Amino acid sequence: MTVDLTKNQTLVLNTLSRASGPLSAYTILDQLRAEGFRAPLQVYRALEKLLERGLVHRLESLNAFVACAHDHDHAHGLTAFAICEKCGQVSEFSDEIVEGRLKDWAGKSGFRAAKTTIEIRGNCANCA
Ligand SMILES: [Zn+2]
Ligand SMILES: [Zn+2]
Repeated sequence: MTVDLTKNQTLVLNTLSRASGPLSAYTILDQLRAEGFRAPLQVYRALEKLLERGLVHRLESLNAFVACAHDHDHAHGLTAFAICEKCGQVSEFSDEIVEGRLKDWAGKSGFRAAKTTIEIRGNCANCA
């Protein structure tokens, strides 16, 4: 576990790590009311720092958050997620070939990519 997190950041990260699927900021708030969280801003502030450090990812299409599936620092140039629409399971993976092709494209187009997120929606192996 990363040491230099604030109490609130640790609480938010633990909530996401325990969750079986992605959580919205409001669900996180509800789960942390007993810990003294009162306002969405407290959750958003903690999430902002966790996102910066790559410990948490935002799923744009769901407007929800997941803990990073890797406990070591992995390069987050490209993060891909497969989201099951039946059970809500999210699998995080990265793919060097896809990342390379996107980099080639960006290089040729003169586009400066800061972050790339790929979200695949469908059914997981268990639900398909
Ligand atoms: Zn990650
Ligand atoms: Zn599923």
